[in-house]
Amino acid sequence: MKAKIHRGAHEIGGNCIEVASGSSRIVLDLGRPLSARWGEPIPLPDIAGLASPDAAMHGVIISHSHLDHYGLADQLHHDVPVYLGAEAARVLEAATFFSPLARRPRLAGTLHDGVPLRLGPFTVTPHLTDHSAFDAYSLLVEADGRSLFYTGDIRGHGRKSRLFDRLLAHTPKTDVLLMEGTNVRSEPRAAERLTEQDVEEALLSTLQSTPGLVAILSSAQNLDRLVTAFRASRRSGRTLVVDLYTATVARATGRTSIPQPGFDGLAVYVPQRQLHRIIETEEFQRVSEIADIRLFAEDLAAQRGSLAYFGTSSTATELIEAGALHDGAVVWSLWEGYLNQPTGKRLRDLLAKAEVPLLHHHTSGHAHVEDLARLVDAFAPARIVSIHSEAADQFTEYFPRVESHADGEWWGV
Ligand SMILES: [Zn+2]
Repeated sequence: MKAKIHRGAHEIGGNCIEVASGSSRIVLDLGRPLSARWGEPIPLPDIAGLASPDAAMHGVIISHSHLDHYGLADQLHHDVPVYLGAEAARVLEAATFFSPLARRPRLAGTLHDGVPLRLGPFTVTPHLTDHSAFDAYSLLVEADGRSLFYTGDIRGHGRKSRLFDRLLAHTPKTDVLLMEGTNVRSEPRAAERLTEQDVEEALLSTLQSTPGLVAILSSAQNLDRLVTAFRASRRSGRTLVVDLYTATVARATGRTSIPQPGFDGLAVYVPQRQLHRIIETEEFQRVSEIADIRLFAEDLAAQRGSLAYFGTSSTATELIEAGALHDGAVVWSLWEGYLNQPTGKRLRDLLAKAEVPLLHHHTSGHAHVEDLARLVDAFAPARIVSIHSEAADQFTEYFPRVESHADGEWWGV
């Protein structure tokens, strides 16, 4: 068995790995690079059997539903079998209405924790993992008596950290560990050592010390963060108001453990942008379904001391205009770097002008270096190959048994 990283050896995102046994091949992830501009066309990687049918191509397995792992899948020839977690597929389907870029590929089958897929000579066993994307998997690929374990995106400090502990305790026999290294840097930043539980405590403290509305701006598909925000809100005695996009995605999980319409202490606000989408598509049932728990901008203003809000950053302007953030605060619950990009700068200016404090409570969706080191130990004596990292050359400083491979290079497993 041999492998080739097509993209991701020296960058975060855009992951694509081809694995071959004889002439048979599979592909792990087909991501859109994070460096690509909005709408910029990105061609498929140069792999036979993606754009046109090829009997030797046995399938594309998507580890999780983030664009940097599946974003090119809509360009695949429709005969190519694609696999993705069943719940991840439902979340993507639900997200498509609000975020057309989230188009879901046609699936030949779905991934289930610990259930092997047989694809030609390959056995691919998905391992459910802790990441900020819902229903994310690491993938164990076996063929020719050899084995490759691809972490996908992984962490050990989220709401599902027991999955990381389980992997450490029951590590599959592996020849090569293809490991993400988002947080591998020469100087790890302190904020990255926070756990999701720490974020809950920080939010709780902000909710307790803020007289008005606390608006938590995050990603609708980061369901771990939704759980964190809901728990902190309940502990502070506040009702959590989520935007319709978040409510829709939460319900699509089919998981009763995820806060969603029908939960005590949860209400829904329909931001103007989401309302326009409903008017445009005439899908009015999306609003009538939540009519009894819907709050309007004037409700957010009137009840601001007893509410918290969870939604996307584009809603900040209308919250300010409605007076909902008077005496309130905005919590940026995403990567801090986005605040230095043009939309982030606009948000900072807007809040400064309205004299609304901006706080940052967040932790990475990716493992701390210390947890990666524990993973490398558990997988000993597997060789380590880096992916999803801007500091692949730093791997040897943190971990033993590291081999470095560039994009486009074949290497034996
Ligand atoms: Zn990623």
